[in-house]
Amino acid sequence: MAHRHFVAVFPVLLFACGTSAVSPDSGAALDALDANDAAPIDASSSDGSVATRPWIDTHAHPVGIHTQCNTQACADAVVATMDKYGARRAILLHPPSPANNTSLNGESLVRSAVQLRSDRFFLGVGGCDLNPQIQQTDGVANVTSDARNAFATSANQLLTGSGAVVLGETAALHVSYELAHPFEQVSPTSTLFADLADLAATADVPVDLHVDAVKQTMSTPSFYTQKSPNNPAQLKGNIDAFSQLLAHNRKARFVWAHVGRDTTGDMSAQLVGPMLAANENLFIQIHAVFQPLQSSSAIVDGDGNIRPEWLALLTQYPDRAVIGSDSFFTGAEDNDAKSLQQMQKFLQKLPADLAQRIGCDNPVRVYRLPGGC
Ligand SMILES: [Zn+2]
Repeated sequence: MAHRHFVAVFPVLLFACGTSAVSPDSGAALDALDANDAAPIDASSSDGSVATRPWIDTHAHPVGIHTQCNTQACADAVVATMDKYGARRAILLHPPSPANNTSLNGESLVRSAVQLRSDRFFLGVGGCDLNPQIQQTDGVANVTSDARNAFATSANQLLTGSGAVVLGETAALHVSYELAHPFEQVSPTSTLFADLADLAATADVPVDLHVDAVKQTMSTPSFYTQKSPNNPAQLKGNIDAFSQLLAHNRKARFVWAHVGRDTTGDMSAQLVGPMLAANENLFIQIHAVFQPLQSSSAIVDGDGNIRPEWLALLTQYPDRAVIGSDSFFTGAEDNDAKSLQQMQKFLQKLPADLAQRIGCDNPVRVYRLPGGC
């Protein structure tokens, strides 16, 4: 799917990116998530006795710190597990790489994974190539025109002829779950986030943005400081700045990743509702998990039941939510099934029409996906 037009640029500096030992995010979050939640896979809910509901997974990873899936056998195994839990298609993205990421082929690794099953996978670009550039602007008041041009060059190179349906995964606040897992924090008002919004609007693709929600600057929950020395003592407030970014270009669609997964104590329906009300270009990507903090704000409780305030929110904004499993695929069913099964369980607890819209209609519309659900 070629993109219609692009921002004019003057190629100055080029970045590229990879999956070396220091790279990206991944698997750690999921490890932390399932450490306390290793519920056995409940095959009964998807073996035909209860109708499996169709959905599109808008956020999954073929690469991570501990994981990689780039063989035909792996891709076919992933698709077989997706079939079991009703996932008709999956968007594969590179996790958000940190500023100091130094190696080379992460984006091409994701692209090759998609090509292994282009009948079932869609491509996201920029997690490995664009996100480090954004992270490098943390605290930079005046981002140079060279850096802005280089960023636009990278984005256009990633988008041109690639068939990419989303820019991401990018991160404004990304807490660390272990030593090899990066801590990332850059204000959503960073110049490169605004440029990313303009590039995305021009290319008519959404931005996938990971923001661990922080209303006001807070002490970092001990859950994280005990797990990883990468986490600082404080997390900066980011919700006001996120609102400013959303207001920067209303033609830019932003997909807030991992909504419902409370990682700070601030991710609640009471926070998200007003954000949706004030920002028509904001979409929420549900990750229906009780972990890591097992908080009363999370979208589901310990039994996987949807909390009423969240169901009310989704009912009030039926066209603004999609689902993202945040899976790190390896081809091993017991690994790949965990989050897919939880997302299917979540879908089955929704009213049927809402499940159809959140599972299928919304992702097709928001990501302009050919071929439907
Ligand atoms: Zn993420």
